[in-house]
Amino acid sequence: MITKEFDTITAIATPLGEGAIGIIRLSGSDALAITKKIFKGKDLSKVPSHTLNYGHIVDPQNGEVLDEVMIGVMLAPKTFTREDVVEINTHGGIAVTNEILQLVLRQGARMAEPGEFTKRAFLNGRVDLTQAEAVMDIIRAKTDKAMNIAVKQLDGSLKQLIDNARQEILNTLAQVEVNIDYPEYDDVEEMTTALMREKTQEFQALLENLLRTARRGKILREGLSTAIIGRPNVGKSSLLNNLLREEKAIVTNIAGTTRDIIEEYVNIKGVPLKLVDTAGIRETDDVVERIGVERSKKALNEADLVLLVLNAAEKLTEQDRTLLELSQNSNRIILLNKTDLPEVIEVDDLPSDVIRISVLKNQNIDLIEERINQLFFDNANIIEQDATYLSNARHISLIEKAVESLQAVNDGLELGMPVDLLQVDLTRCWEILGEITGDAAPDELITQLFSQFCLGK
Ligand code: GDP
Repeated sequence: MITKEFDTITAIATPLGEGAIGIIRLSGSDALAITKKIFKGKDLSKVPSHTLNYGHIVDPQNGEVLDEVMIGVMLAPKTFTREDVVEINTHGGIAVTNEILQLVLRQGARMAEPGEFTKRAFLNGRVDLTQAEAVMDIIRAKTDKAMNIAVKQLDGSLKQLIDNARQEILNTLAQVEVNIDYPEYDDVEEMTTALMREKTQEFQALLENLLRTARRGKILREGLSTAIIGRPNVGKSSLLNNLLREEKAIVTNIAGTTRDIIEEYVNIKGVPLKLVDTAGIRETDDVVERIGVERSKKALNEADLVLLVLNAAEKLTEQDRTLLELSQNSNRIILLNKTDLPEVIEVDDLPSDVIRISVLKNQNIDLIEERINQLFFDNANIIEQDATYLSNARHISLIEKAVESLQAVNDGLELGMPVDLLQVDLTRCWEILGEITGDAAPDELITQLFSQFCLGK
């Protein structure tokens, strides 16, 4: 494989801030030459590939020593980008790391765009799109299960599945072509339609199976958006705090990378619950009063999961009844809290599947986890080790489109349409699947995808 020629890019690869080390990464054919101009130590063009080399960074203009560093030299093609890669390990301060970056830029490197290193890995054929996207998913994974899925995708399991399917489609198209070209055989028409029917049904079953993993995959990747509702003083904040405690809180206050919002996540047996409007719970208690009935209804219907908290030690109030009604079309779990006190709530007015808990006494909280598992995972093991999960919204929508094009072939067969028209739909399916792996992805898509990465990745 010949690596394409690109200019040399650079970026700080570590998070900005004080850390033990800061890394400035360079990739491109001039990576070594540029580094040599600012490095005092061994001759970097003579050191073996994949070694760390001690020395100092020196400003060539005034001879000033900026830092003592270790320089990682990794020569093409066995590198992340398949180009020459240099990593300068500095003493991790913001100022030093930035100054060295400036120095590298002045020697002729270009500032990398977000995700550009990974983009090069893709353009140079080291990874396909699903694998590149997996890199991003690993960085963003909020639970170990979500990370398992991403790591598996990084392995290329999805790519392999898609590649196989595409190859099969191509074989089928070729076979059809051969049949058409040799019409002297008997029954060619029949043979060809029978082959098409059999194959499209096979492909459709395969892709539909994959789509079935999508719901779980998406939940594990993005989390269930969860609303905790209830009238004042029923114990919502206590419940929230309980869920956030016990090492369940995985990531709090992540600033969304694309939108500037704060989200809180709780890890329930590997399922990330994305708690919506937790600030709302803490500041004002009455959702309905705050945003109005219609908007509440909409918000509740949009949440993947609603935890409705009621006070078991009091009679149902008007407000409780409103919330019960508003949430009845949601995926809802009704929690009767404060069961450590005598129960006076009118249980006959409630659905039978309520869960009795006491946040104060930490009782039955695990039943909530079990119910979530029932609601969203049919009680299955949340992640089956060998399954290839579809978790990325882009992949899901493309697979859906591919299934549609197969359906068009099926419909055409039923209607007795000419085979060459059906070939068009089958070819379309092949193209759509190619967009998933990047074999047939338009340039804008690729640019847009990689721009979501972090700088330096
Ligand atoms: P919120 O207004 O719905 O957020 O309710 P809070 O979480 O602030 O709780 C209101 C009061 O109920 C607090 O004094 C809590 O200590 C108390 N509380 C919460 N859970 C329980 C429980 O399970 N049993 C009892 N007895 N009190 C509870």
